[in-house]
Amino acid sequence: MSYVDEIMDKVVRENPAQPEFHQAVQEVLESLRVVIDRNEETYRRQALLERLVTPERQILFRVPWVDDKGQVRVNNGMRIQFNSAIGPIKGGLRLHPSVNVGVVKFLGFEQIFKNSLTGLPIGGGKGGSDFDPKGKSDREVMAFCQSFMTELYKYVGANMDVPAGDIGVGAREIGYLYGQYKRLTGLYEGVLTGKGLSYGGSLARKEATGYGLLYLTDEMLRCNGKSLEGKTVAVSGAGNVATYAIEKAWQLGAKPVTCSDSTGWIYDPDGIDVELLKQVKEVRRARLTEYAAARPSAVYHEGKGVWTVKCDVALPCATQNELGLEDAKALVANGCFAVCEGANMPTTLDATKYLQDSGILFCPGKAANAGGVATSALEMSQNSERLSWTFEEVDSKLKNIMVNIFHNLDDAAREYGMEGNYVAGANIAGFLKVADAMLAQGVV
Ligand code: NDP
Repeated sequence: MSYVDEIMDKVVRENPAQPEFHQAVQEVLESLRVVIDRNEETYRRQALLERLVTPERQILFRVPWVDDKGQVRVNNGMRIQFNSAIGPIKGGLRLHPSVNVGVVKFLGFEQIFKNSLTGLPIGGGKGGSDFDPKGKSDREVMAFCQSFMTELYKYVGANMDVPAGDIGVGAREIGYLYGQYKRLTGLYEGVLTGKGLSYGGSLARKEATGYGLLYLTDEMLRCNGKSLEGKTVAVSGAGNVATYAIEKAWQLGAKPVTCSDSTGWIYDPDGIDVELLKQVKEVRRARLTEYAAARPSAVYHEGKGVWTVKCDVALPCATQNELGLEDAKALVANGCFAVCEGANMPTTLDATKYLQDSGILFCPGKAANAGGVATSALEMSQNSERLSWTFEEVDSKLKNIMVNIFHNLDDAAREYGMEGNYVAGANIAGFLKVADAMLAQGVV
């Protein structure tokens, strides 16, 4: 049995009931086969893959807090520190009822390669809780965040592990987490990114993942003789990534016509009004029905359906496995020619294969959404320097990083005989740097 197959078996056997983690490992290892075969003897002797698929540390903890009625509630908290070979652990915290160890492990594993691809010195990890911030008062969210940090602070630090936001964790949550860290440790340091501008946050961090997604999409299209100008774009999600992807799509001359949340989706043939979307989602924290009520050109549909709309480019920006095989077929049938993932692993394995086999330009999230973590690393640099860069400075560094990521994965795919396979290119380019650092650091 090949080394890759042995490891895949081991992952499934030793991590039962973690399908998202199996899926993420399978996607990465499959595309690394050619690299691993070339170096099999060394990698086997060093147990490189065994170490790669096993987190350095998994911290699981209880998060008790009191709700507004005086009832004590308990959630599961976790931080999975996957790999620090190339720098301190970096990766978001997710607050959503679907969070469990398998989901956080898939996200942490993906984060290793994403962070490596940015070219910046950051290792990979992820964390979160099954706490649902939806429908909670500000006081309840604060009580949860303070309790979560009361355990987590022991394991994080500016040079050790620097969490950030993800689904359900925005500026409000980061503020409460930061306040509690500072209170417990007495340290005013860059332990979290995505902070508010008044206490060490970076300009352009809020926009970074969505903007970065569009910078990379633009470069990918340009290198394939196409452009975003005048193109129709379908976007899913209505959170941080989706909102700023929509904003940058407009700025680059495209027309974004959809967005969605966990209950329904909007089709707006005049193009999504991004200021209205921000009002509804960022300010009022309301449902998309309110967007439709305020915008005569928009139609609201219950449930799923974004990928049935005719579009040139599709940008899944909501959550994992939201674009399945039937969705992929609908996109291809409707003339879509590019899919770039804003969310983490939004496309299922069979849908990815179908899109690639159909000649669609497909860029995986670990490359296409790396602008968020890259700008988080720029926030860490500013915190270390105790300086703040201008929006333009950060944005131009972000753009350079995204363009470089695309060329790195494009070159890696070519070098290993898989031209145009950006999934393989991203995995190979991300893996090589981490593998090299792991081997150089000995058996740790
Ligand atoms: P937000 O919480 O801001 O937004 C998430 C959006 O997706 C919301 O519109 C939400 O709907 C919808 N959504 C969440 N879960 C589901 C679900 N199970 N089914 C359908 N819709 C769902 O999160 P972000 O925009 O920050 O993150 C989106 C994706 O991008 C995630 O995969 C995240 O890991 C990834 N990502 C985020 C980065 C960042 O910088 N924020 C960086 C890199 C990747 P509703 O409004 O109803 O909750």
